[in-house]
Amino acid sequence: MALNILVVDDSSVTRKMIIKALGLSDLPLGEVFEAASGFEGLTVLYEHWVDLILADLNMPEMNGEEMIERIRKNPALADIPIVVVSTEGSKTRIERLEEMGVRFIHKPFPPEQIQSVVSDILGLQNETSNV
Ligand SMILES: [Mg+2]
Repeated sequence: MALNILVVDDSSVTRKMIIKALGLSDLPLGEVFEAASGFEGLTVLYEHWVDLILADLNMPEMNGEEMIERIRKNPALADIPIVVVSTEGSKTRIERLEEMGVRFIHKPFPPEQIQSVVSDILGLQNETSNV
């Protein structure tokens, strides 16, 4: 099983760091898509099958939170696992995201954290799909 991953961040440097961390893991990567805003992220999701989304919050055009709300309201996309990678410090905002089933990683992040959270989500998916 190859994982298609969408990385949404307005910083191309951060996108590269996340993709590098994924590449250094033993995760079975398929296609890796990049988007620089929530709007671009949604455009990718309407056109491609994606297994996992790693998303920034603070972005121009459409921020990560609005993108996540739209994903969760769209039955075709609602179940895609989402990991937010952000400098966000507001507890209420983080809790609001966690209520939407989103995992949270603080920037700056060690590459191992990206790998372990993604592996964790992938492991949970395997368990449910084997039933
Ligand atoms: Mg940003």
